[in-house]
Amino acid sequence: MTWQQRIDAALDARRAADALRVRTPVEHGAGRFLIREQRQYCNFSGNDYLGLSQHPAIIRAWQQGAEQYGVGSGGSGHVSGYTHAHQALEAHLADWLGYPRALLFISGFAANQALIAALTGKDDRILADRLSHASLLEAASLSPAQLRRFAHNDVAQLDALLDKPCEGQQLVVTEGIFSMDGDSAPLGEIHAAAQRQGSWLLVDDAHGIGVTGPEGRGSAAGQGVKPELLVVTFGKGVGISGAAVLCSDPVADYLLQFARHLIYSTSMPPAQAVALLAAFNLIRSDEGEARRQRLAGHIRQFRAGVGDLPMAITTSQSAIQPLIVGENARALQLAHTLRQQGIWVTAIRPPTVPAGTARLRLTLTAAHESADIAALLEALHVASE
Ligand SMILES: *Cc1c(COP(=O)(O)O)cnc(C)c1O
Repeated sequence: MTWQQRIDAALDARRAADALRVRTPVEHGAGRFLIREQRQYCNFSGNDYLGLSQHPAIIRAWQQGAEQYGVGSGGSGHVSGYTHAHQALEAHLADWLGYPRALLFISGFAANQALIAALTGKDDRILADRLSHASLLEAASLSPAQLRRFAHNDVAQLDALLDKPCEGQQLVVTEGIFSMDGDSAPLGEIHAAAQRQGSWLLVDDAHGIGVTGPEGRGSAAGQGVKPELLVVTFGKGVGISGAAVLCSDPVADYLLQFARHLIYSTSMPPAQAVALLAAFNLIRSDEGEARRQRLAGHIRQFRAGVGDLPMAITTSQSAIQPLIVGENARALQLAHTLRQQGIWVTAIRPPTVPAGTARLRLTLTAAHESADIAALLEALHVASE
C-alpha cells in the first residue's frame, strides 16, 4: 500500500463505522453556553465542572501575570523558563495536597507520558485499569515494561496479577474518577493491594481535583489515600490547562533528570501559573465550596430525573453522567436531536470507549442553572420517545 492508499483506507474504515471524528469550530465553547454559528446552546459537553474557565478573578490574574512576565516563558524550565510564579504554584500544590514536591507539566497527557517513560524499564510491569485514559495506556504500551490491564476496578484480579513473578518493579495505574464513565476507583483497596507487593500506585485524578474531596483536594484525599504518585490536571475542574505530578523529593529530583517532556519542552507561560494559583486559592475558598455544593445539587437533580429513561443509566455520582446507548449511529442521532432543542452534548464512540458502548457523555457544571438541568431532562425524554 502507498502512503496515500493507507491513509484513504483508514479514513474509509472510520466513515463506514460511523466513527469518523470531525471538529467544529465554535464562537464560545466553555462554561454554561456553547455558541456556534450564532446559535446558543446549553453546554453539557465540557469538563469545566466548576465554571472557573470564565471566572473574572482568574481572568484578571492571568492578565496581571502577562503584564508582569509577558505571554511566554521563553524556554524550558531547565534553561530560563522556570520563574517564581512556577515555583510558587508548585509549592502551593505540594503543601495543599500533602506531598514533599510538585512538578508542573504542560498537560496531563505530557505528564503521564513523561512519568511512565522516565520510571519504567524492561524488567518492570505496569498494571493498569482497562479503562485508564489513553495517555496512560499509550505511555504504558510504548514503555519497554510489560503492560497488563486489569478489569475495571477489579481489585481481586489486580491482586492476582501482582502475585505473578516480576523481575523488576510493578507500577499500578488507575484514575480517581474515570473520564468516560464518571465512576470512582476503590483507591484504598487498590493501594493496599499494591503495598502488599511493595509496588507503587499512580493515580491520575484529572476529573477529581478541585471538584471532590475536602477543599477540592480530589479523589485520593476524599478516600483518605496517599498514592506514591499523584497526577492532577488543570484543564477540567480547575478551568485552565496544564498538570502536575505530586511525589517525594527523590522522585521529583529523578524526574528533573529523566522526564523528557520537562527537559526538552517550553515550560507553561508564567502568566498561566499565576492564573492557576488564583484558581487554586478560589477552589480552597468558601466560594469554591459553594460551587462544589451547587454542582452536587445539579448531579442530584439530574439523577433523580433520569431514572425512567429507556437507556442504560450508570451509577456515576460525579459530574460525568454517561447515557450508554450502544450503537454509534444511535448516539449520533440522539446528539443531533438534542442539539435541535438547544442542548449541546457529545456522542462518544469507540475507540474512545469499548465497542458497543457508544454513549452520550453528559457533563454537569456549577455554571449551569437548575433550569438548565430541567431542560436537559425534558429534552432527553422527548428525544428517546
Ligand atoms: C483529560 C485527561 C488527561 C489529559 O489531560 P490534559 O491536560 O487534557 O492533557 C489525562 N488523564 C485523564 C484521566 C484525563 O481525563
